[in-house]
Amino acid sequence: MTAGALPSDFVSYSAKWGADPLRIQGPGGNTSIKIGEVMWIKASGMELGQALERDVFVPVNRAAALAEAHGAGDGTCKAAVIGQTGLRPSIETTFHAMLDWDVVAHTHSVATIAHAISPDGLQIARDLLRDLPVAFVPYAKPGLPLTAQIAQTVSAETQVIVLGNHGLICCGSEPGEVADLMDEVERRLTRPALGMTADMPVAAPPDEFIWVPEVGRLALEARLRDLACSGSLYPDHVVFLGPGLPRAPMADAPVAVLKGQGVALRKDATSSQRAMLICLADVLARLDPAWAVSPIGAEAEAELLDWDAEKYRQALAARGPA
Ligand SMILES: [Zn+2]
Repeated sequence: MTAGALPSDFVSYSAKWGADPLRIQGPGGNTSIKIGEVMWIKASGMELGQALERDVFVPVNRAAALAEAHGAGDGTCKAAVIGQTGLRPSIETTFHAMLDWDVVAHTHSVATIAHAISPDGLQIARDLLRDLPVAFVPYAKPGLPLTAQIAQTVSAETQVIVLGNHGLICCGSEPGEVADLMDEVERRLTRPALGMTADMPVAAPPDEFIWVPEVGRLALEARLRDLACSGSLYPDHVVFLGPGLPRAPMADAPVAVLKGQGVALRKDATSSQRAMLICLADVLARLDPAWAVSPIGAEAEAELLDWDAEKYRQALAARGPA
């Protein structure tokens, strides 16, 4: 079974969405297509943006993945993989299997996240999307908890799902239908964006760090600095950058926000970490200053990092005041 069998429009839309940092950052987001008994889903750790150059999709047994969505197995769908590909299916495979549409696309849409991290923003998104077959799903940890939360909220007609503090899912019968729907949601949720680039700081960056002037405004404006440093707003931020952003260089953190100077990134940071930092600036650039913001909270951060909640709170406290 080879990915060469996949419809070319599915692959090219996947690559297009994956290459757009306002829709997908690094290895985040995933698409799937159901063909007969098989569901092809983006493999864990692979980048959708590379879908045209390499095999980023892994075939899983559709019925087995659906059974895992309903509680069979361990929920990773590793056991549902067909053949010996060496790839693991995305952690979000169970909701792709559970949604009864041939094509499912899940993005970490910056425009969607800018609404979905705020109760005020969500209210506005409900209004902007009200005539679409849309459902709003509260935050849950990616994997089985999120799949269960989606299952509780959607109906058979739902084709657009706004995930609280997370992103967007669009579903349809054909790749082109999903692309049109996603473009429509993006268009409606587009917001004016502040320029986040600042001048290169005069001071040298901390040892082993470089300045990232493209997101420098995060360090210069108190409101943005507080938002960036006071909590995590969506799961991939925690997975790649750790909780929130520290206000001084820390041994275990790839980024530091230095008040009045700039935002520093470790020299050995990965491209995914850089993409997540840019994503945070892109989200905060689009957040209405009048909207209240709801971070995912320490409990959810600990869950994402597989930390015992109490140990995690102690570690957070040791980092000093956010
Ligand atoms: Zn996601």
